[in-house]
Amino acid sequence: MSEPLPSPRIRVLDPATINQIAAGEVIERPASVVKELVENAIDAGAGSITIELTSTKDTLAAIRVTDDGCGMSETDTSLAFVPHATSKISSIEDLNRIRTLGFRGEALATIAAISRVTLTTKPAGSGPVAGTRMVIEGGIVLETTGTGCPDGTSILVEDLFFNTPARKKFQKSRNTELAYIHDICEGICLSHPEIAFHLVHNGSEQLITDRTGQPLDTIARLYGSTVVTDLIPVELCLPFIGIRGFVSRPSLSRKDRARMLISVNQRYITSAGINDAIKAGYGTLLPKDRFPVAFISIIIDTTLVDVNVHPTKKQIRLSREKEVYDAVRAAVREALFSHDLIPSAELPQSPTALVKDPAFSPPTYPVTDLQPPGIVAESTHAGTVTTDQRLRQTELPLDALPAVTGTSLLPKMEVIGEFGGIYILARTPDGELLIIDQHAAHERILYEQVTGQAGALSSLQELISPVVLHRTPKEAAILRDLMPTLAGEGFILEEFGGDSFLVRAVPVILGRVEESSVIDEIISDLVSEEASESISNRERILRIVACRGAIKAGTVCTNEQCQRIVDQLRRMQNPFTCPHGRPTMIRFTRHELDARFLRV
Ligand code: ADP
Ligand code: MG
Repeated sequence: MSEPLPSPRIRVLDPATINQIAAGEVIERPASVVKELVENAIDAGAGSITIELTSTKDTLAAIRVTDDGCGMSETDTSLAFVPHATSKISSIEDLNRIRTLGFRGEALATIAAISRVTLTTKPAGSGPVAGTRMVIEGGIVLETTGTGCPDGTSILVEDLFFNTPARKKFQKSRNTELAYIHDICEGICLSHPEIAFHLVHNGSEQLITDRTGQPLDTIARLYGSTVVTDLIPVELCLPFIGIRGFVSRPSLSRKDRARMLISVNQRYITSAGINDAIKAGYGTLLPKDRFPVAFISIIIDTTLVDVNVHPTKKQIRLSREKEVYDAVRAAVREALFSHDLIPSAELPQSPTALVKDPAFSPPTYPVTDLQPPGIVAESTHAGTVTTDQRLRQTELPLDALPAVTGTSLLPKMEVIGEFGGIYILARTPDGELLIIDQHAAHERILYEQVTGQAGALSSLQELISPVVLHRTPKEAAILRDLMPTLAGEGFILEEFGGDSFLVRAVPVILGRVEESSVIDEIISDLVSEEASESISNRERILRIVACRGAIKAGTVCTNEQCQRIVDQLRRMQNPFTCPHGRPTMIRFTRHELDARFLRV
C-alpha cells in the first residue's frame, strides 16, 4: 500500500483573492480610481465629465465620476464588473490600433473587488426608459434595479480598500491623496480640451475646463493667463508624427519637471525620454538645472506605440523612439528660435496680452544696419587698454561670424551707457530700453565663435613660458582622457612626469594669458566639473573657454566698447542667453516704463 499523497502546498487562488492582489497594481491609491473612471468616461465619448470627491477631516470617503457618454444597457452592466470583460478590444491584434484609453477590462472589476460601488447608467438616446442601478461590494453584486436617471453613467466608489487593510495603511494623508488626484486630473484635462471637466471637492469647485477644444484655454484655466503669455506654440508635422503644444520662453522655468505634461494619442503619460528631448530643444537657452513649462501633444501612428507595458498605462513604449525624440527636440527648437526671446521687465499682464504680444509674429531686423567694428580710438586709461585688447583679440571680422542670414533676432541697439561695470544700457529704434549683461553677452559671442564654422578656436597661441600643472592622481587621469579633445580646441598639453603636465599653448580666444594661475583655474574647471550625460566634453571645454575668455563683470567698458559687444551680439544665432542659459538682456518697453511711472 502506498502512502496517501501529501496535500499540495500550491493552491490556485479563488477569483476574489486574485482580484484583490491585482488591484494593488492597477489601483494603488484613490487617484488611480479617479484615473480609471475618468478614462472610461472619455472612452464612452463623454462631452462633459464631473468628478466629485467627498472627504472627512482625514480620509477621502467617496469618489463619484459622472459622464454624459454612451452609457450601458442592463446586459452590459452585468458584464462590466467581470474581470477581463471589455467592449474595447476583442483580440490582441486590436492593441495595434487601439484608440481608447482602456482595453484590459480589469479596472471596474478590481475597483469593485476592494470597495463598494454604486453604478447608475442609461444608454444614450434610449429615450424615456429606465436606466440600471447596481450595487457591488467586495466584488459581490448586492442589488440590480431599474432607476430613473439621465443618459450616461455615474459611478460612486466608497469604502475604498475596506477589505485590503495593508493597502489602506499605505495611503498618505488626505491632502496628499487629493494632490495626486489633482495632478492626474490636470494631465487628463490638458490632453482633452474637447471635454468639459469639473472637479469638485466637498461641494467646492477645484478645477473647471470648458469644452472649447483649444488647449490654451485649458492651460489658462489651470495655470492662469499670465502663464499663457509666457508660452510659445510648437507645431511640427512629419509623415509619421504630429507634435503640437506649447513651451515656455526661457524666462519661465522651474527647478523640477512637474510642469512638463505630455500626451501621446491623447493619453496623458510620463516619459523621461520625451522630457529630455524637450529640454534638449532649449540647448543653451536654459541652465542645466532648470526645466521649462511644456504642454506637448504627440499624435503618432498607433502601430508605433505599445500602451500595454505598464500596469496603470502611465508609461508607454515607442518604436522609432529615437526619431520621436529627435522630432520633439527639433519642434521645440524650431519654435523657440523663431521667436523673440528677450524677456521683458515683469508687469502684470491682461489675458488679452497674448494677442498683442509681438512675440507671436517674430520680428527680425535687417542686419545691414550693422557697422563693421570701426577702429576705436585708443584711450589712455590703462584699464581701457587691456579691455580693448581683449575685445579686439576676441573679435572676428563680421563676415566670419556664424549664420549671417541677413537678419538679426535683435533690433538695432544704440549704447547709451554702462552701469556698474556689469550692465550695458542701450536703446532701440522702437524706443525700448535694453539692459544687457556685458559678461553674458560677450560669453555668448565667444561661444558662437568657437562653436561656429569660423574655426576661430583652432588658432592657438604658444605660451612664452609653458605652464606646469600639478594634479592629484584622480585629476591627472581625467586630464589624460581629455587631452585629445583639448588639443582639438587649442590647448596643447604634454605629460611632464608623475601627475604633472606642461601647457604649451592655449586657444587664442582666451586672450593673452600671462599668469599661470589662470590656466590652472581653467584646467581645474575642466577636471572638477562633473561630467554630464547631456553635454559632451568638447561642449564643456567650449563653454568654459567662452566663460573664461569673456570680459569679466566689473570691467568698466567705454561706450564704444559696449557698442562693439552689442553689434557682435546682433550677429549671433542665439543672442538671448549665455551658453549656460542665463539671459543676456532684458527689455523695458516704453509702455512698461510709462506704466511704472503711472503715466498710462
Ligand atoms: P476597459 O476600460 O479596459 O474596457 P473597465 O473595467 O474599465 O475596462 O470597463 C469595462 C467596460 O465597462 C468597458 O469596456 C465599457 O464597455 C464599460 N464601461 C465602463 N465605464 C463606462 C462608462 N463610463 N460609460 C460606458 N461604458 C462604460
Ligand atoms: Mg477602463
